[in-house]
Amino acid sequence: MKTKVSLSIFGITLVVLFMYCGCSKDVPATLYKTQNVIIVVVDGARFSETWGLSTKEFIPHRYSLLSKGVFCSQFYNNGTTSTNPGHTAICTGVYENLNNTGAEYPTNPSIFQYWLKTFHRPNNEAWVISTKDKLEVLSDCKDEAWKGTYRPSTDCGNLGLGTGYREDITTFISVSTKLTSNHIRLALINFKQPDAAGHANDSAAYLQGIIDTDNYIYQFWQQLQSDAFYKDRTTLIVTNDHGRHTAGHLDGFVSHGDNCDGCKHIEFFAIGPDFRQGYISNTPYEQIDISVTIGQLMGFSVPTSNGKVMKDIFKK
Ligand SMILES: [Zn+2]
Ligand SMILES: [Zn+2]
Repeated sequence: MKTKVSLSIFGITLVVLFMYCGCSKDVPATLYKTQNVIIVVVDGARFSETWGLSTKEFIPHRYSLLSKGVFCSQFYNNGTTSTNPGHTAICTGVYENLNNTGAEYPTNPSIFQYWLKTFHRPNNEAWVISTKDKLEVLSDCKDEAWKGTYRPSTDCGNLGLGTGYREDITTFISVSTKLTSNHIRLALINFKQPDAAGHANDSAAYLQGIIDTDNYIYQFWQQLQSDAFYKDRTTLIVTNDHGRHTAGHLDGFVSHGDNCDGCKHIEFFAIGPDFRQGYISNTPYEQIDISVTIGQLMGFSVPTSNGKVMKDIFKK
């Protein structure tokens, strides 16, 4: 009798082990609820006009969502403070002084490639959706072992690389449509207006660009919460590729690209089922940390990243 019981327990154990291995092949065990991650990059918005402003008057929606999310007050681009290098640091977890015209792919594989490979997902679930056409290079890398493989889908600029920028509203509509029709799972979205207006030395349009993107972000969040596919299992991250020169340094908000605090100090705001709520972290974090933090949430590793997981923003 005793042997029989032991045998049957052994049998159950085997079945459980088999089931676990069967599942873990496709979906590595994760402690988290996050199944989908959307990253929004507000191009070239300076910290002093977003979270650094005491009134938060240009980001009212993000500020109101803080009660359900996290904000990191010491978040930096510690690499090259321009568009393609900043986005590359976010997507690969490695700083590199990448050509900023779209003429060069990042050296290392991205979170999109690691995610698509790990979970064997179709590439219409991972997206780079950008107002700037030159960011299409985020869809691939130069690493010979990865080049041309596990590439995310792209919708960048007018009609892809080399076709020029479009308006942010076009990007907004594209994202909103794809959230509904494709149920995209992992995406990076770029909005250009703050950066473009800054370069044009148009401070009113620069601030309006920050207000408009805040509105887009709020609408994305509302859309995610009203769709059962996304609700309570989707993380939204808002950050910048770079800031702009500190007021009084060179031409101030017009340009960027050096290592002054205005260029390096950027936003990190996140909201989702696995983050603390109403939490402000003063821990120093940086752009390359986003890659492994997303990997941690979604259950894949990014071995080429130099970043660290942003542990204190997670729920205990
Ligand atoms: Zn710029
Ligand atoms: Zn600067």
